Amino acid sequence: MQHFIDVILPIPLEKLFTYSVSQEAAKVLQKGMRVAVPFGKSKIYTALVYEIHTDPPKVYDAKDIHEVIDALPLVTPLQIDHWQWMAHYYMCTLGEVFRTAVPGAFLLESETFVLKNKNILPDESLLDDAEFLVLEALEHQESLKISDVSAILDKKTVLPMLNRMLGKKYILLKETLHEQYKPKQLRTVRLHDQFRSEGALSALLEELSRAPKQREVLLHLFQLQATAQKPISASELQTRSGASSGVIKSLVEKGILQEQMRTIDRIIYDGEATSTNKFQLSNFQEACLQQLKLSLTTKQVTLLHGITSSGKTEVYIKLIEEYLKEEKQVLYLLPEIALTTQLIERLQAYFGEKVAVFHSKYSQNERVEVWNNVLQNESKAQIVIGARSSLFLPFTKLGLVIIDEEHENSFKQYDPAPRYHARDAAIVLATLHKAKVILGSATPSLESFYNVQKGKYGYGFMDQRYGGVQLPEIELVDIKEASRKKRMNGHFSERLVKEISETLALKEQVILFQNRRGYAPIVECTTCGHAPQCPNCDVSLTYHQAKKQLRCHYCGYHMVLEEQCMACGSATLDTKGFGTEQIEQELLTLFPEAKVGRMDLDTTRGKYAYGKIIGAFAQKEFDILVGTQMVTKGLDFRHVNLVGIMNADSLLNFPDFRAHERSYQLLTQVSGRAGRTEKRGMVLVQTYNPFHSVLQQVVAGNYRAMYEEQMSQREQYHYPPTNKIIKISLKHKDYNSLNEAATWFGKALRNVFGAQILGPEFPPVARIRNQYIKQILVKIPRKQSLKQTKNSIKRIENSFNAISWYRSVRVIYDVDYF
Ligand code: ADP
Ligand code: ZN
Ligand code: ZN
Repeated sequence: MQHFIDVILPIPLEKLFTYSVSQEAAKVLQKGMRVAVPFGKSKIYTALVYEIHTDPPKVYDAKDIHEVIDALPLVTPLQIDHWQWMAHYYMCTLGEVFRTAVPGAFLLESETFVLKNKNILPDESLLDDAEFLVLEALEHQESLKISDVSAILDKKTVLPMLNRMLGKKYILLKETLHEQYKPKQLRTVRLHDQFRSEGALSALLEELSRAPKQREVLLHLFQLQATAQKPISASELQTRSGASSGVIKSLVEKGILQEQMRTIDRIIYDGEATSTNKFQLSNFQEACLQQLKLSLTTKQVTLLHGITSSGKTEVYIKLIEEYLKEEKQVLYLLPEIALTTQLIERLQAYFGEKVAVFHSKYSQNERVEVWNNVLQNESKAQIVIGARSSLFLPFTKLGLVIIDEEHENSFKQYDPAPRYHARDAAIVLATLHKAKVILGSATPSLESFYNVQKGKYGYGFMDQRYGGVQLPEIELVDIKEASRKKRMNGHFSERLVKEISETLALKEQVILFQNRRGYAPIVECTTCGHAPQCPNCDVSLTYHQAKKQLRCHYCGYHMVLEEQCMACGSATLDTKGFGTEQIEQELLTLFPEAKVGRMDLDTTRGKYAYGKIIGAFAQKEFDILVGTQMVTKGLDFRHVNLVGIMNADSLLNFPDFRAHERSYQLLTQVSGRAGRTEKRGMVLVQTYNPFHSVLQQVVAGNYRAMYEEQMSQREQYHYPPTNKIIKISLKHKDYNSLNEAATWFGKALRNVFGAQILGPEFPPVARIRNQYIKQILVKIPRKQSLKQTKNSIKRIENSFNAISWYRSVRVIYDVDYF
């Protein structure tokens, strides 16, 4: 009998693809294993087995697979169920989910590049012929495509062998976005075996009495060895004994100490959870914990609504502990931007090496390590902290999911598909595992609070800060008046300048928030009015002073800023609006003595850059931190007593139905950074519109009032959470074709859905990377079937694609867009 497998290919195909396999292969193959398959004319892909059967495909001849890659499934059946939900819900293909879900290193294909790992010198006698040939070729060439390797070896089936080489770390994947993986090396020292006996040891110490410094080092080494069960690093010994590196070196040279280089697993924590890290919950925290536990007995999802600094993290920790006792796995999701070393350190200090971190800035190899540890249910990955992509890990015993800062919009993936919301996808994942979910926030999303109101989610509330610390005082500063009376100092009101001076005089720290990076978003000629635009996008170029550049924040285009206007040649260029760079500049003149740091996308590009700035600020290496929304996230600084919002209006006036909700969240969160210790903090909000209801609600800390007001608007205009929305974007490089196609699509939708359709309209930035964009919103009342609605939309798309000149228009669905 002929055997076949249906596989998921990591490309946007509407259907599974069928290949034929030998009888032996059919016997060993299981759902979730990888196979190498040919596709198209000459491509090779890594595909995932979905089903093994004996029905030949009807419309094409099944090709043979090249080879089986795995001996055991890499992906669990439950994961595949989850992917299928995701593909249906977010209107994308299973292949797109597959590609997003697994680390790239698992998906070798003909177009992948590999490099030699320069940190590993393999023993040539252990290499087989193929490995030797590949490594030799990589001596002469920096990198090879998988298809090149195929040619060199004259073999179609190279993926399993390359996977093995990757596993042995002989080769690396070429990663353009990620830093190369360098195994972290640790220099350790230990006493030479010949001094292990007591006699030899006392003789040695006796002999060293003439070299007291060396003797001192040895005594410290014994002490360290007595308490730690692990190898002692040279640097640790040096710090502890206070000796110079020279002293240790001479001990090594004399043969008293032995040196060893060890490769350490960079993800695991090498400290220990100590009893000093244990803490007691306060009464209100304990009460809340009990409430959550009770709620979780009847509800799958419970919202922990706790004001900033109420100690949500501590409550999570106690809850996690309960699930660890039952040997369950715990997933702790954080928004990308808040993945701070601060929180990771706190959890590691408590749970030691049970904590693994999964992060898109990590290299492929690091992600592969975590994946395997989770799949094997290793204790060193029992708790996974990560950004949204960590929900794709192969959990087998998931018991609890915590989604911290659940209101954050960075949980939503914009591009590419699947355009999923990690909070919602994690709740579905938890349902499949019969696991529980805690959503945490000081400023819950309207969606989650609505679900609490409906009785769908449980609720726990903490309205006090830990340790009786007071919430900061929030003051609105009217800059309309001040500007009119010309009493602004650049972008600083007198009030703000005064408070900053006083805070600095007390040796305390300041955070200033401006939601825009660069120096100014617009450069304009005062003579002719020309303002440089991006040639690829319909947006003006932002001026970056440090690099003397004009940059597009949508496509990355940049050019040098000329002294003269490019249109009329006058040297009368002026800027409009302001970003973090300009605030930093103004601070240098206003407070020449103060040390200023800046945190935005431009200063946090590298893997560790973000952590470095936070660390330096926490260590008081600078006094004022200027930043974009990055500074608003769950950071816990001890010495910040003043927070200044440079301009609240730009947030409030953002053209989006969530702008007010988001302003409330952002302003409340950034305010929460002030005064986290005994002394009451202060927040100054500069605005042209101090009577704006959202600002009033922020000042009063009145979440309920914000919720009620926004909900009535959402109901009235049929926006989430009372309605579901799907945003359909159409893109094309030709303006007229796009317009025509979008009108057609809009009409077809309106025929079915009538007034539920909004648009097509151009978004605020109507062209990005030379693609014109038009958007259509579909508003779907709660009682209308989402599934049928999506089917109707898909049917319309099929007719649309049947019109040949529309086919080149890209159609992108964003379900529950954020
Ligand atoms: P939130 O996440 O709610 O903003 P955190 O969990 O960051 O609050 O807590 C705020 C601060 O209070 C942190 O520095 C934390 O270590 C401290 N804290 C909170 N609860 C306790 C507790 N029970 N024992 C000791 N410290 C606590
Ligand atoms: Zn000009
Ligand atoms: Zn651009």
